[in-house]
Amino acid sequence: MLKSKDNFLSLKQRLDNQRAEPPSKRPQKKSSGYNQSVFSENNASRSSIFSFSNKSFFSNFINSSKKEISSFSLKSKLGLNSSQKSNDSRSFTTALSSPRSLQKSSITLSHKVVIIGGSISGVCAAKYIEDRCSSAALITLIEPQSKVFLKLGAPSGLFDSTLIQSLFVSPTSIFKLPHNVVLRNKAVSIQQDHLVMSIGPPIYFDTLIIATGCSFPPPVCYPDLDPSLTSNMLLRYFQAISKSKSVLVIGGGPTGIETCLRLLNDFPKVSVTLIHDQKMVLHDYYPEQYRKKVQSYLINSNVKLILNDSANIRSFANFGYPPKGRWIETTSGKMYFFDLQINCSGCHGNSDFIKGSFLDYERVVDPVSKLIKVNRYLQVDQHQNIFAIGDVNNIAGLKSADRAKSQAQVVAKNISILIRSSTQPSSNPNPRFLEWTPDSNLARDSIVLNEKQVQGEEYPGFETELEASSSYHFHEVSLRKTDLIKKVHKLYNTSNTKTKK
Ligand SMILES: Cc1cc2nc3c(=O)[nH]c(=O)nc-3n(C[C@H](O)[C@H](O)[C@H](O)COP(=O)(O)OP(=O)(O)OC[C@H]3O[C@@H](n4cnc5c(N)ncnc54)[C@H](O)[C@@H]3O)c2cc1C
Repeated sequence: MLKSKDNFLSLKQRLDNQRAEPPSKRPQKKSSGYNQSVFSENNASRSSIFSFSNKSFFSNFINSSKKEISSFSLKSKLGLNSSQKSNDSRSFTTALSSPRSLQKSSITLSHKVVIIGGSISGVCAAKYIEDRCSSAALITLIEPQSKVFLKLGAPSGLFDSTLIQSLFVSPTSIFKLPHNVVLRNKAVSIQQDHLVMSIGPPIYFDTLIIATGCSFPPPVCYPDLDPSLTSNMLLRYFQAISKSKSVLVIGGGPTGIETCLRLLNDFPKVSVTLIHDQKMVLHDYYPEQYRKKVQSYLINSNVKLILNDSANIRSFANFGYPPKGRWIETTSGKMYFFDLQINCSGCHGNSDFIKGSFLDYERVVDPVSKLIKVNRYLQVDQHQNIFAIGDVNNIAGLKSADRAKSQAQVVAKNISILIRSSTQPSSNPNPRFLEWTPDSNLARDSIVLNEKQVQGEEYPGFETELEASSSYHFHEVSLRKTDLIKKVHKLYNTSNTKTKK
């Protein structure tokens, strides 16, 4: 399998020919893009926002707010006038895409909280805010996927196809109060008081929470908004693994290690190679002892480790998909062939929608990781009413569901402080926000660095030193995801009977 560079120069052309096609280019059965579903003539029910599958809420909402509901249509996208719109049989009420909480002029007394991203951190924030603020907050959660793909279960789904269905959760039933809604849409830009959406009218906010997470290369991703295409992707990997004699795992972070361990468990005859760009597996936010322990285990289990080297795949975002045999060239100039490559080379923050917005992208977003810089209150660029939580912020250290949850709690508390200070300004003229307690020194240092970068004459300094939590509980790489997946289903108020691993 391992050959010298000289012997393979003639194969470089072949290597190039075998680069992966991005998933979007492969033949697709159908697209379930929200654009199409919102605007297609026959798809009113599918187009809908999740909350409207709850019929009682739908009828209550329509009855109570008919007067406030205006309409928009395909024509409005095309810039036609309002009389033409109202006569258009293809019109949808804005209730389907723009309920009253989103209208600039409606309900001015309630505080409009908009959350971008309906995965773990977005849903945690939505629920905490609803519990804490009740009717004082009108919450709108925006998510483009009809069913949210739980990336944390992707490696389990690769090795056990019966688990795949449990990796999709619908945010339909997250809210208790009928004025809070979930919209199936995508934010494309942030302006001072509203979001520009991929489709339909703008969505106004008083407070914005960015919870858009990260994008990974396949297989830890959803290649399409249609869950069946994501399931197909996982199945294709499973079939390819079953037929492979040699598998390369690219990236020795927690996802890569989890994938190696699963390969050892489920396919003991497959020859496994792991390539990682550091001198030891995992990252520096894991204790050295633990890294050594994992590394020894892999070596003793006959995993071939290529350390301090990396695969030259940076310009191929979806490298490894579709699954097939490919040559790999490393930065040190070696060439290898593997029947299958599983790309666990990391992720980047979903922050492109900040480009062209009123926030200064260069200042707010880390150029390499695309993660959003936040201060100790999880605010972006010191804006009191814009927060970034979960995987999308640039706080260093291990990203986890627990961390997302703890950040959602802090933001919910800060939003209740904001609401109180805006409704009773005299009682609380200088609101003191709650700090998120960093879960490690690494996390603390990254926040302090962010604060130093944005502090200038226009922003006041911070009065107190930021303290990190005294104990750092790192999560060991685990193959047992059952409890976590069950907890996530509970968070979404959905039942899940199929998790077993
Ligand atoms: C392989 C793997 C294994 C893991 N294992 C564990 C584990 O064992 N334990 C643990 O605690 N954590 C684990 N994690 C981490 C955990 O999954 C994340 O910390 C958690 O998912 C973070 O959630 P999030 O909501 O911040 O982001 P994401 O889960 O990334 O969700 C972001 C959401 O935002 C939406 N979105 C993106 N852009 C837009 C836009 N412009 N408009 C609207 N919506 C948008 C996306 O569709 C998505 O639903 C694992 C992660 C991976 C990848």
